[in-house]
Amino acid sequence: MRKWIKRVLLALVLLAVPVVGYGAFRFGHPSLPAESRTLASSVARPGDVSVRYFGTTTLAFSDGTNTVMVDALLTRPGMRQVMFGKVASDPALIDATLKRAGLAKIDLLLVSHTHYDHALDIAAIANRTGATIVGSPSTREVALGGAIPSARIVTVKGGEQLHTGDFTVTVIRSLHSLGDRVPGEVTAPLGQPATAKDYKEGGTFAFLIEHRGFRILVHASANFVPGMYRGVKADAVFLATGGLSTHPVGFAQAYWHEVVETTGAKLVVPIHWDDFLEPLDQPLQPLRRFLDDIPLTMTRIAPLAARDHVAIRYLPVIAPVDIAAATASAKP
Ligand SMILES: [Zn+2]
Repeated sequence: MRKWIKRVLLALVLLAVPVVGYGAFRFGHPSLPAESRTLASSVARPGDVSVRYFGTTTLAFSDGTNTVMVDALLTRPGMRQVMFGKVASDPALIDATLKRAGLAKIDLLLVSHTHYDHALDIAAIANRTGATIVGSPSTREVALGGAIPSARIVTVKGGEQLHTGDFTVTVIRSLHSLGDRVPGEVTAPLGQPATAKDYKEGGTFAFLIEHRGFRILVHASANFVPGMYRGVKADAVFLATGGLSTHPVGFAQAYWHEVVETTGAKLVVPIHWDDFLEPLDQPLQPLRRFLDDIPLTMTRIAPLAARDHVAIRYLPVIAPVDIAAATASAKP
């Protein structure tokens, strides 16, 4: 009888090893591929553009006089709040983060789409920095819900150009990554707290940001409208990689062709690869594998970059990077 129990226990232990191992593989954070390189922090001369990265797709481009921000997720609520509770901007955290980044004044806050991981903090940031918010009709509702006056909201469809100082922004209509979990429009002012599902997609844009002849393309969701960049040239592309791993390799190739090859960019900066359910004061880690397999995506993209002589570099968190200098010096 004892022997029988021992055998059952042994079988259970042997069975548990692969199950636990597989669970750890799927639910743990993977590492970026070993060859991944992060740009060193460097402050641009006054008049040149420094970029600061806040994880996911949240970026700020400043030339010392004017600042253009893309997307707004600083609060990064945890998984429990996002899946089962409500989300809201954290005022103290936003104050501290903006202060650390030296962002007292922001001119334009461009919103790629209104999912919470792009739009949660637009009103909190615009209220503190005087930013004009630019985005879809859904973006307008999120801004109104956060008490941004109508005069500081610009609703766009794609094709518009906006100017602030030496920055020119062109709004380009795009598509959300495949498998949108929260499609639809925000149709009434959206206050906080709200559920993550209240932040419906509302249409997706890419932004071409030009500054004294240097061209930065921010493509914040991994999909495209065929031909959307016909005639568009870019020096550096901030390329969303989230969601690519769950589709056939041909989709990543088509995406690369449309966004990187067509624009002739020589530097690609991956964005939307980090686990935004973790706070920003922790080192960024790739999304958990059950959500997305970022290392797999990067192994699909690396040969395309090598073929096209394009350098791939990650950004440090919040520290400034002289983006034109980084583009000029990054070797594939
Ligand atoms: Zn989204």
